[in-house]
Amino acid sequence: MTYDIAIIGGGMAGASLALALKELPLSIALVEAVPFESAAQPAFDARAIALAAGSQRILQAMGVWPALAARGVTAIEHIHVSERGGFGSARLEAAEENVAALGYVAEGRVIGAALTAALAQCPNVELLCPAELAAVQVAGDAADIQLSHGGAVRNLRARLLVAADGGRSTVREQVGAPTWELGYGQTAVIATVTTDRPHGNTAYERFTDTGPLALLPCDPPADGDAALHGRRWSLVWTVRDGQVDEMLALDDAEFLRRLQQRFGYRAGRFVRASERHAYPLALRFVREAAGERIAYIGNAAHAIHPVAGQGFNLGLRDVAALAQVIAGAVGRGADIGRLAVLKDYAAWRRPDYLRTAAFTDGLVRTYSNNLPPLKLARNLGLLALDALPPLKHLLARQSMGLVGHLPRLACGLAVTPPPAVTSFEFRVSKTTGSGES
Ligand SMILES: Cc1cc2nc3c(=O)[nH]c(=O)nc-3n(C[C@H](O)[C@H](O)[C@H](O)COP(=O)(O)OP(=O)(O)OC[C@H]3O[C@@H](n4cnc5c(N)ncnc54)[C@H](O)[C@@H]3O)c2cc1C
Repeated sequence: MTYDIAIIGGGMAGASLALALKELPLSIALVEAVPFESAAQPAFDARAIALAAGSQRILQAMGVWPALAARGVTAIEHIHVSERGGFGSARLEAAEENVAALGYVAEGRVIGAALTAALAQCPNVELLCPAELAAVQVAGDAADIQLSHGGAVRNLRARLLVAADGGRSTVREQVGAPTWELGYGQTAVIATVTTDRPHGNTAYERFTDTGPLALLPCDPPADGDAALHGRRWSLVWTVRDGQVDEMLALDDAEFLRRLQQRFGYRAGRFVRASERHAYPLALRFVREAAGERIAYIGNAAHAIHPVAGQGFNLGLRDVAALAQVIAGAVGRGADIGRLAVLKDYAAWRRPDYLRTAAFTDGLVRTYSNNLPPLKLARNLGLLALDALPPLKHLLARQSMGLVGHLPRLACGLAVTPPPAVTSFEFRVSKTTGSGES
């Protein structure tokens, strides 16, 4: 079977790309190893994702936002940044940035439900699941893909292969794509916690000597426990790798006691905690986000520290940029898998990767050194940030994903077939897609 595009990995990045391309005259195979409804689905799990204002625009332009909002998102209107044991703090305010919200928090499984419901309405997307990429080889005019699909071997060809198969990308491994990686020696422990006070749509980022601790306001989804509305948070607590087992083994009362001690009482008293999960952290980049017949998106292209909640936001901007590059190539009648086309995508994304990695990695490293002069400088820095509106504005725009060369989707414009596409070209594409040329 031949497709125009095979997307390997139907997580947040892969599913979003398939949706972003829905208006284009392209046949798409979306290959996912684990069924969406399975409890073992690794992409749509208990994590809560802070979606930046720019990502909300992208999802809106893709037509997914109304369904996602109806399933349950929580607006972030204020962000409070501080350091444990320090005197400085800074606040970012949606009102000062003239936006309704600095971002929104949605649970991974809620995002997954909205994306998969929307995918079911896309006639040009064929979902192959459970199907796992076993081997890939790039030949002149196509990528040859071997899948293990329901216990049998299945072969596909695609003009373009998109690697959206996450941090441990099999595509990257199969083609031997050079990848750069640095461990943090830190693990994120996540849980949902409840306080005795309303969250007031405030997100907290608190730097501690073991790593950053983030509390995101996260109301229960539409089908969840409404009684917790307004008092429920998603916690991302970064600890040293050696502390993880102990943290996971604590009973709830002791976990809440330690959290209270680390975080203080700014958000109220912690009264309830959910089951905890752990995610080892690393900084990882594929050296080139595109090669002949291959493009990398999402965590297959980059994994960053979750300190500022930027990973999927960065991945969604990959989706928006790649969709636009593909639409442009379709409009020109160009081969969407050629490196000559895909290098525009890689070049477009590079500055955003560097900026976002420098921002998140810089935060982690700046706050992991406990020398008193550095601690003093950091706290003075927070005070300065709070007192200097232009600096604050720049930080807010970066966090909202609204800096640099923005793709059409991030400006609220859908990816549509360019006017140059005629019905003749549409037929050519479809013919290529069915393997007849
Ligand atoms: C603790 C934590 C908190 C975070 N918080 C935020 C946040 O607030 N905001 C934010 O923007 N980001 C956040 N992130 C980052 C975000 O979770 C990731 O960037 C995002 O989930 C990556 O999505 P993805 O689709 O690229 O990869 P994945 O989620 O890894 O999905 C990859 C998919 O590919 C499938 N797959 C893998 N191999 C194969 C194969 N061989 N064949 C077929 N299918 C395959 C997998 O089953 C999976 O479904 C956080 C991350 C962590 C760890």
